[in-house]
Amino acid sequence: MTRNRNPAQIERLAQDVLRQAGALTIPTDVDKVVESLRVRVHEEDMESDVSGVLIIKGDQRHVLVNKEHPSNRKRFTVAHELGHLVLHDDEAERDESGNRMFIDRQIRVYQRVGEPSSAVYKQEGSMTDVWQEREANAFAACLLMPAHHVTRAALERDLFDELSVASLAKSFGVSEQAMSIRLQQLKLVSPDLGSSDDDASGA
Ligand SMILES: [Zn+2]
Repeated sequence: MTRNRNPAQIERLAQDVLRQAGALTIPTDVDKVVESLRVRVHEEDMESDVSGVLIIKGDQRHVLVNKEHPSNRKRFTVAHELGHLVLHDDEAERDESGNRMFIDRQIRVYQRVGEPSSAVYKQEGSMTDVWQEREANAFAACLLMPAHHVTRAALERDLFDELSVASLAKSFGVSEQAMSIRLQQLKLVSPDLGSSDDDASGA
């Protein structure tokens, strides 16, 4: 099992997934990716702090997403759950029927700075660990904001202007905070710009 893949590996995996799905334009066509990975997405009533759940039963793959959440956030949640599927299925614990389940509460895009409190991810019913959450977030960022697209789009804009980040976020179908973090990761803006490691999944 491969722990702590580096960002370049995750970017490459996300690129492979996008290529296989034929989803190479922006905003990322999440439906195409979902279909290509043979996943069914269900919008469900959930507790407000639950963002998404990935369930793998035999050859069936289901992502449940909180239907009350804004659409950017739902896109990020689905992409995050696809990250668990692509990256962590082999490593997941199985119940007696061999089924795997990932439950996500308050997904945080926080791989940029600091060490998250592991308590955030100690959730009943979920078998994921902090490093898996970080990888799933990185995968989601790569899927929704592929490096080459972001870099090209960013070069056409003045990123010191907040409105530019907003328009960039809009064109990729992500929250401004998720875009700010991605710009920092790609070193397109300096890290003291933009926001910290709050909930950036799109609320
Ligand atoms: Zn997760």
